Parts: sequence; C-alpha cells; structure tokens
Amino acid sequence: MMAQITRRTLINAAIATTGATVIARFSHAQEIVSNENATAIAMGYVADHTSVDTAKWTKKAAPGGENQKCTSCTIYQSIDDDYGLCPIFVGKRVHANGWCNGWVA
Ligand code: SF4
Repeated sequence: MMAQITRRTLINAAIATTGATVIARFSHAQEIVSNENATAIAMGYVADHTSVDTAKWTKKAAPGGENQKCTSCTIYQSIDDDYGLCPIFVGKRVHANGWCNGWVA
C-alpha cells in the first residue's frame, strides 16, 4: 500500500529542509578558531593535530594518540569535510584535523 502524502507531511518536510539549510549556512559563516585564540592556547588547540607538542600535551602522546583529532572526537559536529563545531569553541568552527586537550574518545 502506498503511503498517503498529506499537506502536513509536506509542510513538515519543507520546515525541516529550510531549518537544516539555515543551520548549515550559519555554521559556514562562523569564524574559524585560530591557534592564537585564548581558549585555543589554554586547551592546546592546533589546526593540525600532527603538530601537537606532545611533551606538553601528554594525552596526545598516549597509545593511539595519533588517531586523536577533531573528527574522531565524540563532541565534534561536522559541518563539511574541512570544518566542524565544538562546544568548547562556541560560535566558531574548528578544523577537522585539529586537536585540543579536551579530546574525548
Ligand atoms: S574538544 Fe574535540 S572537537 Fe573540540 S577542539 Fe578539542 S578535539 Fe576538536
């Protein structure tokens, strides 16, 4: 049996699509976190996880640390292949290949 498409279904789908588009556009407009950002300095954030000073940030030096980066962090929310959102840096984008000491398995 074919599902019946109601006006309500169409309106809900249109609202959902519009909302997702607005969120995506807003996310892309957000500033990118720089390594000089005060929170970035405090958290050891770098845009390239392979450049972490592992003598200072020993979490990254732990076994499996080479796999720690934003895209493997539980709290990372991908925007696209290059950037995502992180609750530590509210209102900004982080690099997909970034890392900070807040990394969560
Ligand atoms: S908490 Fe996770 S997602 Fe946020 S900057 Fe650090 S490693 Fe990246």
